[in-house]
Amino acid sequence: MKNDNVVNLNIYNNIMANGKIGVTTENIFPVIKKFLYSDNEIFLRELVSNAVDATRKLQTLNSFGDFKGELGKLDVHVTIDKEAGTLTISDRGIGMDADDIQKYINQIAFSGAEEFLAKYKDTANSIIGHFGLGFYSAFMVAKKVVIRSLSYKEGAQAVEWTCDGSPEYDMHPIEKSDRGTDIILYIDDESKEYLEKDRIIGLLKKYCRFLPVPVVCGKKEEWKDGKYVETDEDNVVNATEPLWTRKPTDLTDEDYLRFYHELMPGREDPLFWIHLNVDYPFTLTGILYFPKVKSNLDLQRNRIQLYCNQVYVTDQVEGVVPEFMTIMQGVIDSPDIPLNVSRSYLQSDRQVKKISSYISKKVAEKLDRLFTSDRKEFEKKWDDIRIFIEYGMLTDEKFFEAARKFYLLKDVQGQYFSLEDYKKLVEPSQTDKESTLIYLYTTDPTAQYSYIQAAQDKGYSVLLMDGELDSHFMSMLESKEKNLRFVRVDSDIPERLIMKEDSAKADLSAAQADILQGIFSADIPEVENAHFIVSLENLGENAAPATVTQDEFMRRMKQMAAQQPGMMGGNFPDSYQLIVNITQPAVKKIIEGSSASIESKVQPIIDEIASLNEEITKGRDPKASEGLSDEEKASAKKAIEEKENKVAQLRSEQQSIIGDYARQLPEARQIIDLALLQAGLLKGRELSEFINRSISLL
Ligand code: ADP
Repeated sequence: MKNDNVVNLNIYNNIMANGKIGVTTENIFPVIKKFLYSDNEIFLRELVSNAVDATRKLQTLNSFGDFKGELGKLDVHVTIDKEAGTLTISDRGIGMDADDIQKYINQIAFSGAEEFLAKYKDTANSIIGHFGLGFYSAFMVAKKVVIRSLSYKEGAQAVEWTCDGSPEYDMHPIEKSDRGTDIILYIDDESKEYLEKDRIIGLLKKYCRFLPVPVVCGKKEEWKDGKYVETDEDNVVNATEPLWTRKPTDLTDEDYLRFYHELMPGREDPLFWIHLNVDYPFTLTGILYFPKVKSNLDLQRNRIQLYCNQVYVTDQVEGVVPEFMTIMQGVIDSPDIPLNVSRSYLQSDRQVKKISSYISKKVAEKLDRLFTSDRKEFEKKWDDIRIFIEYGMLTDEKFFEAARKFYLLKDVQGQYFSLEDYKKLVEPSQTDKESTLIYLYTTDPTAQYSYIQAAQDKGYSVLLMDGELDSHFMSMLESKEKNLRFVRVDSDIPERLIMKEDSAKADLSAAQADILQGIFSADIPEVENAHFIVSLENLGENAAPATVTQDEFMRRMKQMAAQQPGMMGGNFPDSYQLIVNITQPAVKKIIEGSSASIESKVQPIIDEIASLNEEITKGRDPKASEGLSDEEKASAKKAIEEKENKVAQLRSEQQSIIGDYARQLPEARQIIDLALLQAGLLKGRELSEFINRSISLL
C-alpha cells in the first residue's frame, strides 16, 4: 500500500532535512508510550545494547582490517544532567551518518514499531519485557530525543537528528570531533526517576551487568571524612567477561564459587555446578548451580537468569529449562531463544524444547560423572539433592532413565546403595514366595524403632524413606520394576513382612479360637480414628505376645486420598491389625484359663451356631426351593430369616459371656496395651491406666 506520509527518499539524501518519519499512524508515540508504560525501564537496556553493538561492530571491522583508525578507549558512558533534564548514552562505536540514520532510524525502526503494534495489540502484557522496541523505546520516557553521531567512515560528516515525539524530525550537520554516537534523552515529566543516579545504576546492574563492553556511570565513590565522595576513577557497572563466556578449563572452583556469590549474595555455597556450552544445533552457554535444597520444593524459583548475548532478558525461564530444574540457580545465555513471543508459545517452540532437553541431559550427565568419579563426595551431597532428583525422576521420563543409575537408597544405618547394588544385596533374603522382591522401609526410625529392630533381627535391611516425595517415588519405582514392592516395617509382623512360605496354622480348636479372638476384641480400648481387627498367629514362644500392624495398602490409599483434595477417604479411620501370638506363654496361659472357665459355656453355643449356619446354607441353595409353590417359598424364606436372627442372638450371647470374662482379665489388656504402646497408639487415659495396671501387676 502506498503511504502518503512517507516522504520522498530524495529529501533524505540531503543532509539538511526535515520531514516525516515513515509511519502510517500520525500519533504513534503516545500509543507506544502508553502501551509499554508499565515496563518502560527497558529503554535503557535497549539503548545501552545498541551502544555496545556499535562498539563491537567497530572492533570487528578493526580486527578484519577494515577500520584502520585509532580505536582508543571504547567505554560506553551513561551520563545524567539533572539541570538540563537529560540522560545521555554515549559510545565510541561505528557511529551513523545521515544515510545510516535515514535507513536505520527513520525507516526501519518506525516501520518495525508499527508492525509490532499491529501484531501484538492484544497480547501486550505477555510480551512486555520480552520485546525491546530498540532505539524507539527511548520515547517511552523522553519528550525529545537527539542523536548526535559521527560515523567511523573516512571523511564522514557528523549529524544531529532531533525528534520531539511527533512523526516529524529535524536533521542537520554538526561539528563533532569524536567518533561515535550520543543519544540524548530529554526525560519527560512523568519519568523523572530516570534522572536519579541510584535508579540508573540499579537498572544498569540489572540489565547490563555482563555486557561485553565496559559501561560507565559516574565516578567511583569512596568513604572519606564520614561521607561518600567521588574519586577520579570511572564507575564501571559491568563485568565484561562473565564466567560463562570463558572456557571451563581455564576456571577454578573458586572462580565458580565467587561468581555464584556475586549472582546470589548471602547464600550458602552451592553443592555443585554445570557449565553449559553448546554451539550446535543451537547456541547456548551458561552455568547452573545446585543450591542446597532440603524440603521446600517451592523454595525460590526464578533464580535462573536468561541472557541474550550477555544482555539480561528475564528470570522467567519456564519452558526453557525443565520444570524440575527451575530450583537451580545461575545463568543461561542463548541468542536462539525467541524472546519476543508469549510464554505459551515459548513452551511449544521446537528449538526451545531441544534446549530444555539438552539441559536436562547435561544435568544428568554431570550427576552421573560425580557418582562414578567420586562416590564418597556424591554420597555426602545426596541428602541435599535427593528431593531434586526424585522430583526430576517423577516428572521427566528421560531423566528417570538417566538417574536410575545414580539414584541412591539409604538404609537406617546411613549406608548408601545404588538401585542395582541394593537389589543384589537383598534379593537372596528378601524375595517372597511369589518371587516379589520386598524392600522394607521406615518413615520414622524413632517411632518405628521396635519394628525396625524386629526386621533387622530377621536379617532384613531397612531403608530410610522419610523424604517429602518418597511415597510417590516408591510407587513409581514399583510401577517401573515389575517384581518390586515397598513395605513399611510396621505393616505386618516380621514373619509376614516377607512371606517365604504359608505361615504355620493356628493350632487351636474352633471354640478356643473364638474365645481368644473374643477376649482380645472385647479388650481393645477406644483409639481415636482407629479400627482394629484381631487375628491369631503361631509365631513361636519368643515372639511378642501381640503386635499392632498397619496394612501397607490401606495406609497408602489413605495417604494418597489425604494428599488429593476432593478425593474421598482422607479421614476414614486407620485400620490396624492386632496379631495375637498363640504360642507365646502369656497368651497360652490365657487360652488355658479361658478354656477351663468358659469353654463349657461357649461350646454348646458354638455348636448350635454351626448347625444353624449349615441349615441356612442349605435353605439358601436354589435347588431347595425347586418345585415349591409361592406360599411354600415365602415360608421357607421366613424360616431362614428366623434362623439368622437366632444366630445373631447366639453370637451376642457368646460375646457377652466372653466379654464378662475378658473384663476381669488384666493380662489380656496388658498384652494389648504393650502392643499399642509399641505402635505409638497408647495415649492419654489409656496410657495412665496401663501404667497403674503395670504397677499393680508387679
Ligand atoms: P535493532 O538494534 O534491533 O536493530 P534499533 O531500533 O535499536 O533496532 O536500532 C536500529 C539500528 O540503528 C541498529 O540496527 C543500528 O544499525 C542503528 N543504531 C542504533 N543505535 C546505534 C548506535 N548507538 N550506534 C550506531 N548505530 C546505531
